Amino acid sequence: MAFPRLCVKTSEIFSNARSVVSLAQKWGIHVFGVTKGICALPEVGKAMLEAGCVALADSRLKNIRKMREAGLKGPFVLIRIPMPSEIDEMIDLADISLVSMTDTIELIERTCEAKGKTHRIVVMVDVGDLREGIWPTEVEQVVAVLKKTPRVRLVGVGTNVGCTGGVVPTAENMGLLVKVGSEFERALGTQLEIVSGGATSSLALLEEGNMPKGVNNLRIGEAILLGTDTNNNREIPYLSQKTLRLQAEVVEVRKKPSVPIGKIGVDAFGNVPKFEDRGIRRRAILAVGKQDIRLEGLTPEDPGVQILAASSDHLIVDVEDREDPPHIGDVFSFKLDYGAMLAAATSPYVQVVVDEQG
Ligand SMILES: *Cc1c(COP(=O)(O)O)cnc(C)c1O
Repeated sequence: MAFPRLCVKTSEIFSNARSVVSLAQKWGIHVFGVTKGICALPEVGKAMLEAGCVALADSRLKNIRKMREAGLKGPFVLIRIPMPSEIDEMIDLADISLVSMTDTIELIERTCEAKGKTHRIVVMVDVGDLREGIWPTEVEQVVAVLKKTPRVRLVGVGTNVGCTGGVVPTAENMGLLVKVGSEFERALGTQLEIVSGGATSSLALLEEGNMPKGVNNLRIGEAILLGTDTNNNREIPYLSQKTLRLQAEVVEVRKKPSVPIGKIGVDAFGNVPKFEDRGIRRRAILAVGKQDIRLEGLTPEDPGVQILAASSDHLIVDVEDREDPPHIGDVFSFKLDYGAMLAAATSPYVQVVVDEQG
């Protein structure tokens, strides 16, 4: 058995997706399952679709290709606004993509023309978080371009909150999205299929019953994959947090002082480390490091284990409070936050193990 490994309980992910889909359904909202946090592990995409997600959404074309090659039916949505250099491939791989620039719409049109294809887009609207999106005042300019680009079909509007600006979803900013959506409908004389009101952080609005009418889509990753909602700093009570765990193997156990000996300069990453003197304590080294994980995002499952530090390849933990001193070859398990999941799933050194039974 190889370590470190990321154990994925697809049954827990399935039931999280089921719970999210049924909550959303009550409010007339359909769910895109967002797979990027776990690098589009096909078993996870499959669980999301089986649980009722209407599409799989990912920020990377490579991930969408991977899921297609694994035989997943999709449909697939590219949720990072595309690089001009990937538009050709995007038209082949993604059924829908998110767009925020009229130049991009024109480029998609020209590429579609050359390929003899059409493409469906969702225009992103910035309601205040200041990541991607047109200003709500720009509808007219976008419509003018859409009228000249018949191969690009506008199927919806969407927004992002809570990502870079930390703005939380509210009835006001969601209402603004709905209003922009109706302006597009009026100007184009069509009905939009999708009004996409954000990600996991928007679930709180649903729970409170405060999502404005007109929002009919959410793109959900974190809630399904981890059962958490980082923006609102909570474990979601009706979801499972036992979806994933990272396991690493002990390679050294020894009593050592809690403060290094010698003149302290900077560590391997250019930071000046700080230490609390707790005397001589038993510590263990695990064979996993910053190349694989984000130590700030790991929580030991064993309460007697405390993370001290990590270098590229080693994770050092205090085990003094553990009843039985560990031995080399023991395996410690950790819960992961979104950043730690992303890092572990992306590292080629971490083996991803799917546990279908749960
Ligand atoms: C990552 C991402 C999501 C999913 O966010 P979660 O917080 O994981 O639910 C939704 N939309 C876009 C555009 C994203 O990039």
